[in-house]
Order: sequence, then structure tokens, then C-alpha cells
Amino acid sequence: MKIVVVGGVAGGATVASQIRRELPDAEIVIYEKGRDMSFANCGLPYYLGAEITDRSELTQASAATFKEQKEITVKLYHEVIAVEPAHKTVTILNHLTQETTEDTYDQLILSPGCQAVRLPQLADSDIAFPVRTLEDTDIIEQHIEQYDVKKALIIGAGYISLEMVENLKHCGLDVTLLHRNERLLKTMDGQFLPHLMNCLKEAAVNIQLNDEVDRIKGKTVTFKSGLSADYDLIIEAVGITPNTEFLAKSGIELNDKGYIVTDQYFQTSVQDIYALGDAIETFYMHTGQKTTVALAWGAHRAANLIAGNLAGHKQAFNGLLGTNIIRFFDHAIASVGISEKEAQECGAAHLSFDQYPQARYMPRSHPMHISVYYDPDTRQILRACFFGKMGVDKRVDVIATAIIAKMTIDDLKDIEIAYAPPFSSPKDIINMIGYRAK
Ligand code: FAD
Repeated sequence: MKIVVVGGVAGGATVASQIRRELPDAEIVIYEKGRDMSFANCGLPYYLGAEITDRSELTQASAATFKEQKEITVKLYHEVIAVEPAHKTVTILNHLTQETTEDTYDQLILSPGCQAVRLPQLADSDIAFPVRTLEDTDIIEQHIEQYDVKKALIIGAGYISLEMVENLKHCGLDVTLLHRNERLLKTMDGQFLPHLMNCLKEAAVNIQLNDEVDRIKGKTVTFKSGLSADYDLIIEAVGITPNTEFLAKSGIELNDKGYIVTDQYFQTSVQDIYALGDAIETFYMHTGQKTTVALAWGAHRAANLIAGNLAGHKQAFNGLLGTNIIRFFDHAIASVGISEKEAQECGAAHLSFDQYPQARYMPRSHPMHISVYYDPDTRQILRACFFGKMGVDKRVDVIATAIIAKMTIDDLKDIEIAYAPPFSSPKDIINMIGYRAK
């Protein structure tokens, strides 16, 4: 069997490795349009912030090691530009030689991910960069060193922009966060915005909301508000869009935003073509609603299931919960489940409260902010969001597990948490959600 994989980073490299374990004799070829394969996207902001100091930690595999250790061929700088299911072929553009070739497949797996949306106002700027790939990261690092960067403008309000704010502050830069409205971090419940603003202020980040870049000349940015300022570096983190243009004529169904539609087996609308990762439309485990979640867990789970399916152990995907977390200076912010907007639209009941995650009398104990949405009739937990200093990761993961186990909000009273003063209290936050739900 010949398996062709499009994309060689999180989903692509993982699915190829998993297939090799399941199918020792399969021929596996990965086409990756970029310079690097299998790098740790999630670590890039922390490398730029010098928290990760050894760059080699970001690249755990190479085309040479994949060939040597797994007998998988990886072709870098090779972009798949078309898929022809009728002939089971892909067309490839080699960016080094500009040559176009064809290859055949028995099974095709698409993991092309997403790309950063770029602002047209900054198209000609040589100080504005996205943070998506290791190549981007190298360029930013070089720019910071070469031009003795002191002032950075970070545009956008998602988790990548907040991670870049934190990391560039760690490097001692003067950082301004720019967003076109006041709704920072949409994965976080809106009621926590004042807490996030406090974190930004405490970290001495300049905040410029309800404003946008109008134009740039050299280092001088003029904003739509009429303000202008000079920056040495601009990070664009204003959203992502799926890398699926090459599928336009393939007959593979895409949704209205260009994401690849898949079923419970990650099969696309075309036989023998699977897809995984950031570029697919998938569904929530607990509500069945369609969604897109550009986070690593889904890509890894899909890789495992696709490999198993190709080997004949047919196992359906149960869906995901979009569980996410970020560290922001000395705080953590996490959520799980459908979005807050979706929860409000479906008439979910809501409860919120503050509670110490450890015994209150412990030094450094600090209240956590909790917000939970649930179905008032079935008592199903739909969404939870946590904002605090300690133990946020534990609470979000327990709620994710509870949702997967189909526990009701009332069942949370019965979760016997491990208690000692540094970790929780005899009635933990998780239990209190159950006690407080009306
Ligand atoms: P990618 O890993 O992006 O790989 C897609 C690859 O396909 C790319 O290398 C691209 O060049 C290649 N490609 C695209 N089109 C073609 C084509 N036509 N031909 C050949 N190759 C092609 N997730 C988390 O869960 N937690 C985090 O903390 C986190 N932090 C992140 C921080 C940053 C800065 C970034 C950028 C992402 C982060 N993510 C995080 C998201 C996570 O990295 C993605 O969910 C994951 O990489 C998705 O895997 P993928 O295979 O779909 O896409």
C-alpha cells in the first residue's frame, strides 16, 4: 500500500509515524512545502522569549531521521498543488527547482494546517512577521538581534498574541498589544476580561484597544485613531485560515470557511482520502455541534485513529471538547467545551464564583475565578472556564474528564479530590460547582 501525506508537522509527521507502526510494509511519502518538518510549533513563543534556550529542542525529527529510523520518505520544499482523485494522483511543485511532478497514492492523508492571516496594510513592511513556523521564528530572532529591537507591537488578541506579549516582555522589550475591539482571548469567558486587563497592566504592557493599523512607513505606524508611534518589530497574530486552496478542484468537500469536512473516521467526502489537524471541520463530543479547533490534541488523536483504521481496526472518533490553557505571566487561563457564545445562544444555565484553589490560609493562596455553563434540564456540563494562579490545569482537566464520562453537573459533588492544604480544600472548586448549580 502506498500512502501519501500532505504536510509534515504535527498531524502529518504523527500520522505517518503511527501508520509505520501499524503497517510495517507500507510505502509512506510525506510532502512538506516548508523548510522544516515535525517542529514544535507550540514552543516557538517560548524560544523567542528565551525560556527555551536550545533551539534543537524544537526539532525532534528530520527528513534524514525519518528515513533512517522509520523508512518514511519526507520531501521538504515540496508543495502539493493539486489532487486528482479520479486517477489517485497528486501534483507537486518543488520549490527548489520549480519543477512540477506527479505522484500516485492508494491512500492520501491531508494535514496541511492553517496559515496566519496577514494584514494588507503591512504587506510591504520589513518589520512585520507572523509566528507560525520555525522559519518565521528564525527570521524574528535574527531581526531582534540584528536591529537591537526595543519596541514591539503585537497585533491580535488570541492565545498566540498573548504568549508573544509575555515572552517579549520576558526579553525586556517595551510591548504594546493592539486589538480592534475590547474582546481579548475569545476562549476565555467575557466576565474575566477585567482580570486579564489587570494582568496586562501589572506586567506593564501598553494596551491599545478599539484601534487598528492604518498604514506603516518604515518604523512608523499610523493607526486608524490618528495616533502614530515607532516600533522596531511587529508581530501579526490576527487569526488563521486553512491551507486548502490546493483542494479547490479536487471534489473534496470544504465548509464555507474552507475547512475540510470529515466524518467520524476522518474520511473526507472522497474515498481513500483522510484529513486531520487544524484544517478540518470536526465536532464537539458532548453536543455533536460542528466546530474547528486549531489545537494539537485533535491532530494527535486523529493520527492514532487514522493509522488504526488503515490497519483495519475500525474505531470512530468521539469528538473533541476544545480543552485549552495558556499561561499568562503568573496566571493561567483555561476553558473546555463549546464557546461561551454558543452556550449563551442555546439558553444554558450559568454559574460563576471565586474560590481559593488551595486552603485559604496557605501562603501565596490566591482566588480562582470560575465560570460554568450547563443544560438546566439535562444537567449536562456544556462549558467551563477558569482564571487563576494555581491549579487551573487540574480543574479544567477534571471537568473535561467529567464531560467525557457524561457526568452531570450535580455528579461533581461526588468527585473525591485529593486534599492537603497546598493543593485544594475539602470542598474543592470541582465539588463547589456541583453544590452551587441550581
Ligand atoms: P501544522 O502543524 O501547521 O502542519 C501543517 C504543515 O503542512 C505545514 O508545515 C505546512 O507547510 C504544510 N503544508 C500546507 N499545505 C501544504 C501543501 N499543499 N503541500 C505540502 N505541505 C503543505 N496547540 C496546542 O494545543 N497548544 C499550544 O500551546 C499551541 N501553541 C501554538 C503556538 C504557535 C505559535 C502555533 C503556530 C501553534 C500552536 N498550537 C498549539 C497549535 C498546534 O501547533 C496545531 O494545532 C498543530 O500544529 C496542527 O497540526 P497540523 O498538522 O494540522 O498543522
